[in-house]
Amino acid sequence: MAGEPQADCLFCKIVAKEVPATVVRETATTLAFRDINPQAPTHVLVIPKSHHPDAGSLAAAEPEAAADVLREAGLVAVDEKIADTGYRIVFNTGSGAGQTVFHAHAHVLGGRGLDWPPG
Ligand code: C5P
Repeated sequence: MAGEPQADCLFCKIVAKEVPATVVRETATTLAFRDINPQAPTHVLVIPKSHHPDAGSLAAAEPEAAADVLREAGLVAVDEKIADTGYRIVFNTGSGAGQTVFHAHAHVLGGRGLDWPPG
């Protein structure tokens, strides 16, 4: 059923605390933790606790949880002191766009210059 934990999902295991992560923020519906392979001085992932394969399916099924993820991404930027200098929220969607973990997640990236267009 949409939103239910998936046994083979790494991020569901992080939500369940079965896989360790460096958590920086947590709410009833979201978890934010440091990316294990950071691509910028600040690189935090914000995920919904419910399982949806990507941002679009999350927003379609649980728009409030999608809004929670965006709000938390903004609060991570404030906590990390990158809100004033500029930061990027990225949802890689589909393997062709670089998505490797099929549990919706926002990358919050900052602390360095960020080129546009992205690679
Ligand atoms: O957008 P994409 O699906 O590629 O992002 C997945 C991210 O999850 C990667 O940036 C990867 O470094 C991160 N990751 C993590 N902790 C893990 C496994 C993957 O932070 N245990």
